[in-house]
Amino acid sequence: MRTGWFVVATCLLAGCVTPPDNDAVTVIANVTVVDAVQGAVPGRRVVVRGDRIVEVGAQSGPVAADETDGSGRFLMPGLWDMHVHYLYDADLTEHMADLFLRWGVTSVRDTGGELAGMQRVRRVLAERRQPSPRLYFSGPLLDGKHVVYDGGRAATPPLGTPVPDERTARARVREMAEGGASFIKIYEMVSVDVFLTMVDEARALGLPIAAHIPLSMTADVAGPEVDSMEHLRNIELACAGNWQSLHLARMSHLTSGAETGYELRSDLHRAQRLPAIAAYDEVQCAHVLEKLRGTLQVPTLRLNGIGLQNPADRTDWNIALGGLPRAVQTRWLGAIAAARAGLNQGNDTFGRWSLDLVARMRDAGVPIAAGTDTPIGFAVPGYSLHNELDMLVRAGLTTQQALAAATTAPPRFFGFTDEGQIAPGMRADLVLLEANPLEDITHTRRIERVMVGGRWVPR
Ligand SMILES: [Zn+2]
Repeated sequence: MRTGWFVVATCLLAGCVTPPDNDAVTVIANVTVVDAVQGAVPGRRVVVRGDRIVEVGAQSGPVAADETDGSGRFLMPGLWDMHVHYLYDADLTEHMADLFLRWGVTSVRDTGGELAGMQRVRRVLAERRQPSPRLYFSGPLLDGKHVVYDGGRAATPPLGTPVPDERTARARVREMAEGGASFIKIYEMVSVDVFLTMVDEARALGLPIAAHIPLSMTADVAGPEVDSMEHLRNIELACAGNWQSLHLARMSHLTSGAETGYELRSDLHRAQRLPAIAAYDEVQCAHVLEKLRGTLQVPTLRLNGIGLQNPADRTDWNIALGGLPRAVQTRWLGAIAAARAGLNQGNDTFGRWSLDLVARMRDAGVPIAAGTDTPIGFAVPGYSLHNELDMLVRAGLTTQQALAAATTAPPRFFGFTDEGQIAPGMRADLVLLEANPLEDITHTRRIERVMVGGRWVPR
């Protein structure tokens, strides 16, 4: 499905490999390496040449003066955020790259933004003198005849584009491939025919597919057709004992023409989400999860469970917020104060259901990746990924499984096999920590230094 030339072309277009200035060698000596495959191994000497790890061996002898002393430190792979919108808030766009790196996020998957804008972001990142996180983008949300993110209001910036018919479906997918997109993102308002046509065209072009389950379909039918699913969206309906009657009601609302776009989408979720969760059926859900064993889930628990974990209540919130431009800080503080009652006392049913479902997914062998929806829902770029890791552990994943969700699972979406571990041949995207993240997942925040493509990020 994914050809070699495609990955190479994507990397060239993406500037995803920052070309090393030379064959500079960096040695991190006497460090404990930590990754999701081997766990924690103390007393290692890690040698980086260019943008690769070339050697990982036992430390013998004292640390040399020109080596980085890793004594008492922990070296883990750079983190991925699998669900980001660079263009959602114009005041944040240009600050995102440095914020991601500051928090150890070295790779970002942008899951929806206007194509020309994303191309511009990629160009700016490639031209910076300082290191940049790698960026993979989908271009706009490929939506239905009507578009949810149509630019009609502050909460719905123009992230989407209409795909009313099958002819447009093929043209749009080709346009994304030619415009440098690394994958496509299918959105909720598409019809079944348009969905299947976009899947067909993306497969022909070797583009991976991310999707919200369309309102016109169910998760067990649409999910296996795509490579990743976002927010656990619409799985609550598929897992309900009365899913057929809920789906019939949904279809009649969709075709009635009474509402379109954002209102239609939001009203349907408001009307059906909690009844669907109340009608949860274990056997039905086991059938659904069985169908999703080949589809990476990006549950965005941070967002789904925002009522369970108000980001502003965390002890390190002020540090995170302080890294944002002043205008954004002011705006967010006002919005959080206004929303506090809702954030802290809202209906937590969906959040708790999301945590339970992720545990079931893990047990059923469904792959899980970490994504945040940054900057939506007060998600500070980079910082919010650590909150997502916390929530994955709260759902029941081990710390090692949570680490896998941000290091080894994401590259598989793109078919990359040379990253996510501390081993020879792997990309040198690395985070040096003061404490062991396998002991406590909040230790991923205790960052001392970050390396991307073999280059240390300036402190
Ligand atoms: Zn999103």
